[in-house]
Amino acid sequence: MTVRVRIAPSPTGNLHIGTARAAVFNWLFAHHHAGTFILRIEDTDEKRSRPEYTENIITGLKWLGLNWDEGPFFQSQRLDLYKQAVQTLLDKGLAYRCYCTSEELEEMRAAQKARGQAPRYDNRHRNLSPEQQAAFEAEGRKPVIRFLIDDYRQIVWKDLVRGTVTWRGSDLGGDMVIARSSEAGEVGQPLYNLAVVVDDIDMQITHVIRGEDHIANTAKQILLYEAMPSTVPEFGHTPLILSQEGHKLSKRDGVTSISDFQKMGYLPEALTNYMTLLGWTPPDAKKEIFTLEKVAPQFDFDRVNQAGAKFDWDKLNWLNSQYIHRIAADQLCDWLIPYWQGAGHEFNVESDRPWLEKLTALIGPSLTRLEEAVSMSQMFFIPAVELTEAGRDQLQQEGVTDVIQTILDATDNQQLTETDAKDIIKKITKEKKVKKGFVMRSLRAALTGDVHGPDLIESWLLLAQRGLDRPRLQQAVTSKG
Ligand code: GLU
Repeated sequence: MTVRVRIAPSPTGNLHIGTARAAVFNWLFAHHHAGTFILRIEDTDEKRSRPEYTENIITGLKWLGLNWDEGPFFQSQRLDLYKQAVQTLLDKGLAYRCYCTSEELEEMRAAQKARGQAPRYDNRHRNLSPEQQAAFEAEGRKPVIRFLIDDYRQIVWKDLVRGTVTWRGSDLGGDMVIARSSEAGEVGQPLYNLAVVVDDIDMQITHVIRGEDHIANTAKQILLYEAMPSTVPEFGHTPLILSQEGHKLSKRDGVTSISDFQKMGYLPEALTNYMTLLGWTPPDAKKEIFTLEKVAPQFDFDRVNQAGAKFDWDKLNWLNSQYIHRIAADQLCDWLIPYWQGAGHEFNVESDRPWLEKLTALIGPSLTRLEEAVSMSQMFFIPAVELTEAGRDQLQQEGVTDVIQTILDATDNQQLTETDAKDIIKKITKEKKVKKGFVMRSLRAALTGDVHGPDLIESWLLLAQRGLDRPRLQQAVTSKG
């Protein structure tokens, strides 16, 4: 059997981390079995689906490297197929027209609630006579189409993650709507469960791998497979992604869409690596850094956990920094340039390239996310820096003006080199009989406004190349004097 899996996002929002993680698991499973990975856009909800979300989903999957082998297929272009399937179910007597108004349904639910029962459709129009139907139609009622669900049925499947799952027909809310209301005799807009089953059959999907929130849908869908009739695929329900507090990850917990992770400067390789670990444990727990290609041969459902997976920012940040630190400065520089441009910094991408690469090499080892390059390198772009409290304290110290003035005198009219910079510091230390640390801290405070930061000599050289060093040293002397 050739494995055929799919990811079927609805374009009602940007590509969500949960959908992306389902895509990762499907991709890994397909690649493990040399199977086929399909992309299907489930855009039948006309009100909530938007082309910009479709765009965001497709771009996001590509950015993550989750390339698909077939598709994208769009459900909106396949409506006839679903309508035909609904018609077949009607013809077989497995589906029927229900003429209940929303007020009647509301009343039904209120009465159930009053009796302490769970709300459900009570199947009241399951066996209408042709005369009753005609009477409702004469009233101008527009029917929905419902699929019969036997309350006494047990629906059992062997889930790839959860083992044997059992559902009772009576827990599925009564006969389910498979097509929205329409003119008499027609089939209205087909709904999610029906369309998914028609597509999964048509696309010969062998394994349906999706989030645990779809478990109740799976029970309903199995009944639809049987009614079509068609072979039921295997199902694997991946654990939910949870916040640190243990509830379902939502926007309140910070960013949840892949494009936002991208903006923050997470690398696609780090994100897919992290998403793989969200619910899957590698055979060697110490080998946590891997590409999708490398890990695919090891990926199977035996190692997918049943419990929800807590989203751990520290872990993601750690992984991302591991990936960033492995990247060569020239490549990293390409990625940082858009962030610097986005921050409004002015430079020439061509003539300033050597300087930008040195800056990248300086800050790269401290970066966790690409976006941090903006704040970390701000002082190399702007004319003057603000002093931190520690920076101000340092500049207030006895002897600082003298040290800085001497540096100013020593750097007058010369192109500063690394050797010069080191010699100047050495010379001052000797001549003024001050500690090297004092000279370094004073110089750093004057140049950067703070007493901590990246390598001082390298920072000084970078500032000197932009002509920013001397004005700052001057400023430190003037403000003190
Ligand atoms: N359109 C559904 C969703 O976005 C897909 C569920 C499925 O994979 O069947 O949640």
